[in-house]
Order: sequence, then C-alpha cells, then structure tokens
Amino acid sequence: MSTGADSSPGPEPLGGHRHRAHDPQVASSQADELTTGGLDDLEGIDQLRRLAVEAARLGVWRADLDTGRLDADARTRELLGLPAQGTVTLREALARVHPADRAAMRQQLQRMGDRHATAERTVRVLTEQGARRWLLAAGSRTTTAATHAAEIGGVFVDVTTRAERLEHLAAAVEGADEATMTLDHAWRFTSLNPSAEMLVGRTDPELLGKVIWEEFPEVAGTALESGYRRAARTQQTVRFEFFHDVDARWYHVRVTPTAQGVTVAFHDITARREREADRERRLADERQARRSAEAASVDLAHAAALDDLTGLCSRRAVEDRLATLLHRRVAGGVVLFCGLDGLKLVNDGLGHATGDHVLVEQAQRLRRQCPPEATIARFGGDEFVVVLHDADLAAGAALAERVREALGAAIPVLGRRLTLTASIGVKPLGPSDTSATALRDADAALVAAKRAGRDRVVVFDDSLQLQATARLELEGDLRAATDGAQLLLHHQPIFATRDLRPVGVEALVRWQHPRRGLLLPSEFIAVAEQTGAIVDLGAWVVDEAADATARLGAHGGCMWVNVSPPQLLESDLHALLARALERHRLPEGALGIELTERAIVTQPARVADQLTRIRALGVRIAVDDFGTGWSSMDLLRRYPVDVLKIDQRFIAELHEPGGRAIARAMVDLAHALGAEASAEGVERHNQLEALRELGCDQVAGYLLARPQTESDLAREGLPHPG
Ligand code: C2E
Ligand code: MG
Ligand code: MG
Repeated sequence: MSTGADSSPGPEPLGGHRHRAHDPQVASSQADELTTGGLDDLEGIDQLRRLAVEAARLGVWRADLDTGRLDADARTRELLGLPAQGTVTLREALARVHPADRAAMRQQLQRMGDRHATAERTVRVLTEQGARRWLLAAGSRTTTAATHAAEIGGVFVDVTTRAERLEHLAAAVEGADEATMTLDHAWRFTSLNPSAEMLVGRTDPELLGKVIWEEFPEVAGTALESGYRRAARTQQTVRFEFFHDVDARWYHVRVTPTAQGVTVAFHDITARREREADRERRLADERQARRSAEAASVDLAHAAALDDLTGLCSRRAVEDRLATLLHRRVAGGVVLFCGLDGLKLVNDGLGHATGDHVLVEQAQRLRRQCPPEATIARFGGDEFVVVLHDADLAAGAALAERVREALGAAIPVLGRRLTLTASIGVKPLGPSDTSATALRDADAALVAAKRAGRDRVVVFDDSLQLQATARLELEGDLRAATDGAQLLLHHQPIFATRDLRPVGVEALVRWQHPRRGLLLPSEFIAVAEQTGAIVDLGAWVVDEAADATARLGAHGGCMWVNVSPPQLLESDLHALLARALERHRLPEGALGIELTERAIVTQPARVADQLTRIRALGVRIAVDDFGTGWSSMDLLRRYPVDVLKIDQRFIAELHEPGGRAIARAMVDLAHALGAEASAEGVERHNQLEALRELGCDQVAGYLLARPQTESDLAREGLPHPG
C-alpha cells in the first residue's frame, strides 16, 4: 500500500504529469505560480488541464483495484476527511462514504475499472467533523501499457450546496401548498385548510356540513368523483392526476380513506407537467431534426444540434429541415421569421442575464403556440424561425398572429413587468424556393414588419421582393455616395419663440441620386445605419456643416447636426468634431449635435462618457424627436443635455385634448433639467401662440422657414418672420 507519503510525494494528475501543487506542503504557492508562470512555462495540454483542476478545486485520485492502494491529493483527502498525510487505502476512503451510498460507490468503482467510459455518481460523505458533504465522483480506467492492469483514476467535486439546495427545495415543495379537505361518510365537508379554500374558491365555515355533490355539482362525473368514491368503497388510497380548468393547473390528488370518511389532498404539479411537456416537445424537435437530417443525409450531429440557451433547434438544423422539405416537394409549408423588438435595449439596459431570461421565456411561449410537428429554431441573437409543414398561408398567418400576441404579454423580470413586442415575417413555400430564398424572403417580410412600426405580422409578397432588390441596389449606391460627391445639406433656421430672433440652423442631409433624383433622409438613413455606411456619411455631414458654419459666419447661430447611434458608438465622433472646430477655429456653441432617444438608451455609460467629452469641446447637445423614444428621466439626468426638441407629432396635436398638457410637461421637464425646450414642425400660427404660452424656448417649422440650400440662406440672410 503506497501513498502520497512514501515513495511518491503525491499522485500524478490524470494526464500523467506530476506537479508539486498537489503536494499539500506547497499547495499555498499555487496562486503565485498561476500569476507568475508565463505561457513559456506551460507544458502543453497537461499544464492547462492542471489549471482547470485547480480552478475547479477538484480532488484528484488514482487507485489500484488489485492492491487497494489509493493515491490521493490534498484536496481529495480534505474532501473525504482523510488524514492529510500518511498511507490511505480505498477501503478507508469508502469508510468515509455515507453507509447508504457505500454499496453504490463500490459498484461504481468496479464499473470504472471495467470500461474506458467515465462513470460518475453523487455520494454523501461524512467528514471527521461530522459534517455531511455531497461529492460528485467521476472516474475511469487509466490503465496504459506501462501501468498496472487495474488502475482507475478520477476526480471529486464538492457539490454540497447544490445538492442540499435541491434537497431542501424538494422537501419544501412537497409539504407546502398542499390543499387538504376532509369529507365524512355522508360526503359532507368536515374541514378545509386555507390552500383548499383557495382551490375551491369557498371558505371553511361556508362549506362545513354541506354535501360536496350539492355544493359542487360540476364534480359529478369527473375523475374526482370516481376517485373519492373508489377510495371510500375499497378503503384503499387512490392517487391520480387532475387538471383543474378553473385555475388551469395540474394537481396530484390523493384520496385516503379514514375512520370518518376520506381525506383529499391536492398537490400542485403544474410546473412538473409543464417541464415534462417541454421535454417531450424538445424530444420531438430533436427527433424531427434527426429525421430530416437523415432524409437529406446531412451531418447528423449538426442537424440535431440545439441552441444552448433556449433548447430550440439551431440555425443549421432549421436550414437543413427546410432543405429536406423543399427537396421532397411536400405540398405546402410556411416559414415564420420572428424578431423580438427591443431585446437589445433589455441587454444594454438590464444586463445580458436578464436578456437571456427574456429569451428563454419567449422561446417557451413560442413553443407553446406551435404544433408539435413544427420545427422551431433560434436563428440569431433575437430571432426565431418556425417551419410549419403541410400548412397553407392562412394557417401560417394565423399562427404568426397567435405568436405575436403570446410574445407581447408582459414578462415579470427583477420585480418589473417588461413588455417586448414581436415582429413577424411570413413566407409561404413555393415550388421554386430553396432554403436560402425562403429564409431570405421571410426575413424581408420581418424587416418590412419592423419598418411598418413593429409589433405586427407581414406576409411576403412580390412587392417586398422588389423592395428588397431596391434596397440592395441602394446599399450599393450608398457606398459610392458617401465620399460626399452626391450628398448635400439643406439648412432649416431655428428661432427664439418669444421674438422670432434667429438662433440657429439645423443641417439636414439630402442625396442627389444619379437615377432617382433628390432623396430625403427617410429614404436612405435607415439603410445607411444598417450597413454601417452612416459612419462615413455622418463624417461628411459634420465636416460640411462645420464648413458651412464658417462660411455663414454670424448668420447662422448654432449649427445643429443630426447624429445616428452608430456614429456615437462605433466611430470617434469626439475627434471628428474636435478636428472640424479646430479647422475653422469655431467658437464655443457654434456647433451642436442632435441625438435621438434611441442613441442615448444604448450603452448609457459609454454614451454619457462620449457626450461629456464632446460637450467639453464646446459642442451643444440636443435630444431630438423627444417623446417618441425610450429615454427614462434617469438617463436624461445623467447626460449633459442643452436642448430637448419636442417631436413634431406633439406639436401637431397641440390643439387636441391632452396634446397641450403633454407639450407643457415636456417644456417643464426640459427646464427642470436645466435645458431649453425646442419645438419642430410648427406649421400654424395658433401652434406658435400655444408654444409661446407654454414657455417653449425655440421653434422651427414650415410656418417660419423651410429647409433651404446654403446659397439661399446666405443670399437672403436668415429670414425674419415677424
Ligand atoms: P429631424 O432631425 O427631426 O428633422 C426635422 C425634419 O422635419 C426634417 O425632415 C425637416 O425637413 C422636417 N420639417 C421641418 N419643419 C417641418 C414642418 O413644419 N412640417 C413638417 N411636416 N416637417 C417639417 P427631413 O429633412 O426629411 O429629415 C428627416 C430626419 O432625417 C431628421 O429628422 C433626422 O432625424 C434625419 N436626418 C436628417 N439629416 C440627417 C443627417 O445628416 N444625419 C442623420 N443621422 N440623420 C439625419
Ligand atoms: Mg434633428
Ligand atoms: Mg426631430
């Protein structure tokens, strides 16, 4: 019997590489070693394995089944409560295992010796201090030609907290919330506990002495009635599962005969039933994926792969499934492409763990809506794809509507209720479709749904195809345009509300398209943002606006430039502005940037930092289209904001009930934040009057001046609408 104490100072880790960190005397130097030992010292995979062993605080051991000799490292000894030094044997180690688990452990060791696969088992261990510990023991045969014939080795992991938590949970769940009631031989209620009162919706005093069949006639003819009667008749406990449709929950019902009558206990098992149903659906998904993989003879492993987070099929699996369907030319079939609106905001604002929670919840809801034979996949970060077989467009669209509704229900998260909507594109499969075209078209319909305002279902048709093609063209053209040759700025003057003194100009970009004529931002900014072209385009706008400011001189007041989120997050806007100011030696307050609320809610910390540095350059900051986005008061407070620009929509509604109150609140909010309030889209005199009355500081709109070219502006000077 040799141990770590005699011939060898400690066991070799499983890779066969000896390391002193396993020696209890030098274990304390591990940390130093990990930080000072550079990559140069690493001796291949064994060293990495050792790091993993240390990081996971695994106990490592090796045993000879013939001699009973056990080589155990310090951690194994600690976990098993064995002496830190001296000889130990397998028998001694087994003696530390809880008597109830000992036979199983012995058997497990035998199995480890029998085959090369890893065997594992969780066992309880009694330590010297009398504490109980749960250990996961995993091991396999480590015999090689050079070593002994019956050698096994493995690791121990302490899983005590996890196992205990599960144990407590199980105990708590079993005892709690059991609804019990007793009935006498004449079927009269003799007692109900509070949970039973909740369940039947009546109180104990109300029901005592009353006959169950009279009070609850709906029970007649159900499994409940036959269960109660059977227990009374046979004097045997009757157990069954029952779906209570009033509260839509599953119960395990136990009817026990007593001397007085029967006791009925209801135990809520809804969660378990749902888990089982989920597992079944998942198995069905897997089977489906596997079948389709076989049919298309594609890589099985890939096709059956599931998405780790949601347990849905992977993107690859759904692509394969579609290919098979199309290959077989099965009649019908519909693809749903489903995007969760606003998930990015959840990730950015509440953290990725919350985002993941939301994804898992939405995936479950999606699964519940779909028929069992549908293939459901997580396609990308916030996108799901459903393939419905043998379904026509009407069935597909109806399912899409149901899914949209289900995903739109509030999700309780961190004590709040989050509501995310879903946009869905629907594509019926046609004879000429391939997997790629079907997915592309469903995606185009999803994009259209998002563009139409989200939270809706759009069915793919040929006009979308045209749009998609036009979009592709636009993307190509845009790349050519961003060097500036086809871009130009229009300028719209801004005035002080009180006396209509000009106080600034907003630069609005236009695209002189070689074939399509003058394009407005609504026709290309979104595409530019999605393709990344916005960064170059935006840089051109900043430079050009700075040049125009210098040329217009005192005419202009503050030159406001619109900035898209990617410019703030993916480019160095600060450096760009600093260079532009420097080139023309523009004074403080000569330039301002307008951000939408969209830009300021993403990555708040980074945005706050960028904005603070930009403001330090003397650049003013406005929040554009205020009231249409998502910004919270809290975020607004954290940013240096000079102007809140109330969105045109509220100006148009100034004379509608409630519209004025909202505008007033926005003006007051701006002032409370120490900012000025600005109104855009003023088209009528009475709107101007109303804004004056509300104390709104600045106004712009067709009533006062339209966007115009720089030369118009320079020629006529700033108009003075008085
Ligand atoms: P915005 O920044 O809110 O600009 C105001 C929009 O309202 C402009 O539309 C302007 O022409 C229009 N407008 C001004 N007065 C009136 C009025 O009295 N009535 C009505 N109905 N409309 C009025 P435009 O030029 O089509 O720009 C649309 C949006 O495109 C802008 O909204 C801005 O968000 C974006 N945009 C414009 N230029 C740029 C740019 O250089 N970069 C970026 N990223 N976005 C830009
Ligand atoms: Mg603007
Ligand atoms: Mg605006």
